[in-house]
Amino acid sequence: MSIGEEIKSITTSLPNGVRLVAVSKYHPEKAIMEAYESGQRVFGESHVQELQRKHNALPSDIEWHFIGHLQTNKVKYIVPYVSLIHAVDSPKLLAEISRQGTKVGRKVPCLLQLHVAQEETKFGFSVEEAEAFLASGEWRDLPGIEIHGVMCMASNVDDEQQIANEFDTAHRFFRHAKETYFANRDSFRECSWGMSDDYPIAVEHGSTLVRIGSKIFGQRVY
Ligand SMILES: *Cc1c(COP(=O)(O)O)cnc(C)c1O
Repeated sequence: MSIGEEIKSITTSLPNGVRLVAVSKYHPEKAIMEAYESGQRVFGESHVQELQRKHNALPSDIEWHFIGHLQTNKVKYIVPYVSLIHAVDSPKLLAEISRQGTKVGRKVPCLLQLHVAQEETKFGFSVEEAEAFLASGEWRDLPGIEIHGVMCMASNVDDEQQIANEFDTAHRFFRHAKETYFANRDSFRECSWGMSDDYPIAVEHGSTLVRIGSKIFGQRVY
């Protein structure tokens, strides 16, 4: 299937309320334009320099999502235009995004990354750390950010039950946080999980944003 056909087949399979983030990291601008021409407007990147280059070169109505691990010293480069930062994994990073957001007069939409997978190497707050952070109320005093929900990555395993359990853990945390801290904030509504290999499971377990790369664009050449 062509890039445009993949996008169509994925988006028509997604239930109402679930949006596709087309993960275009390592793929050329030409491939992004093919997706764009099929109607896709939301793209995910995970390297700051690459995002800068593509943002400058491509149509201005693209919504760029930053989905990778973000270093605090690079926050300032993307804050003026990024639509959503998915993987906020520390209070320090959130504070820096707020500081830079304030400078440019924005409330930058952010998701808290939860560590629910078994792999040691994945970044993110544990459920306990995320709960402690929200309970601390620190985030309420950050004028340059708005927390829109949570993000996670499941373990890279074949066991679908394990993957489902990990998404459920994140979804339970999301619902608890919504009730406890964000009940009157409509903007807290995003659950970012599901990639090429596990997005059908993610959609059954509360996802509102699926981040799909290789299924659309083919294998990445690093
Ligand atoms: C690369 C990446 C994806 C997309 O992965 P695919 O398996 O190619 O769909 C999704 N989320 C994050 C955080 C990524 O880094």
